[in-house]
Amino acid sequence: MKARGLSLMSGGLDSQLAVKVLQDAGAEVEGICFETPFFSSAAARRAASALGVRLHVVDFTDDECRLIENPPHGFGGAMNPCIDCHATMIRRAGEMMAELGYDFVATGEVLNQRPMSQNRQSLGVVERSSGLAGRLVRPLCAQLLEPTIPEQEGKLDRTRLLGLSGRRREPQFELAKKYGVVDYPSPAGGCKLTEKGFGHRLKDLLEHEGLKDRRLVELLLIARRFRLPDGTGVVLGRDARENAALKECGVPGALVYPVNCPGPTALVPGAPSVEALAKVAALVAAWSKGDQLTDPIKTNVGEVPPPYDRAQFLSSQIL
Ligand code: SF4
Repeated sequence: MKARGLSLMSGGLDSQLAVKVLQDAGAEVEGICFETPFFSSAAARRAASALGVRLHVVDFTDDECRLIENPPHGFGGAMNPCIDCHATMIRRAGEMMAELGYDFVATGEVLNQRPMSQNRQSLGVVERSSGLAGRLVRPLCAQLLEPTIPEQEGKLDRTRLLGLSGRRREPQFELAKKYGVVDYPSPAGGCKLTEKGFGHRLKDLLEHEGLKDRRLVELLLIARRFRLPDGTGVVLGRDARENAALKECGVPGALVYPVNCPGPTALVPGAPSVEALAKVAALVAAWSKGDQLTDPIKTNVGEVPPPYDRAQFLSSQIL
């Protein structure tokens, strides 16, 4: 009897090789990938299409935001809760495995490829935290790990699984040639949570408006951001596309914009005070074509008349 499994797919080389090795070991495999505003499913979709496997795409935004609010195993170098993120993805995949009546979940992990997250202890932590003990198959290094339940039941041929270990990538490149895998992004990158600058803006949002409003989280990907001395947040469009996005995003708050000259739109979430709106108008004026700024700056809650202290933004924290 064939084992049936769900293999986590990022679209990277190792996740594609894991599918190929599992198929060689006699398994029927479908892919599963996750998407949030912090990372997309585009590479996984391309890879699944090239491999000819069905792909389940799961919105992971709420899970990721709850982990950022409270990461049981902490963050990596930026605001990336990698251990918990990975374990939660595997747990979600395990829930789908149970729903679909499949036998296992697989990942493309290689023992000791990443010193912190893929050593024997971390692999064990992920397996236990995900609640999938015995049903988590790592086909690229399975021969170095305890046999899983599908292997013990003889549904998955352990002798066809691999025993890769360490940081050398040559074995994977050889396998890529063997299996004809040619399209894969670099192993690092692709997740905004690992970028320190992005992490700084995310932490500011977490500490002020919080991560409950998904629209505010999505706005982290565009526009300039400021924090006024009184704690008011400002999102300032950088071009016509971002200005339109701020006007259409639906976040409750004030919109501030010039009416008679080119300039940015600012979104101020919540209910800013009159004093805060005057400061935001000054920010908008500072980024507008000054000599053409003759009419009062508009907001959706009234006008802010001149004069505008264009140096106001110097007292704001630029994020
Ligand atoms: S890099 Fe991003 S997507 Fe990957 S485990 Fe870390 S937080 Fe999750």
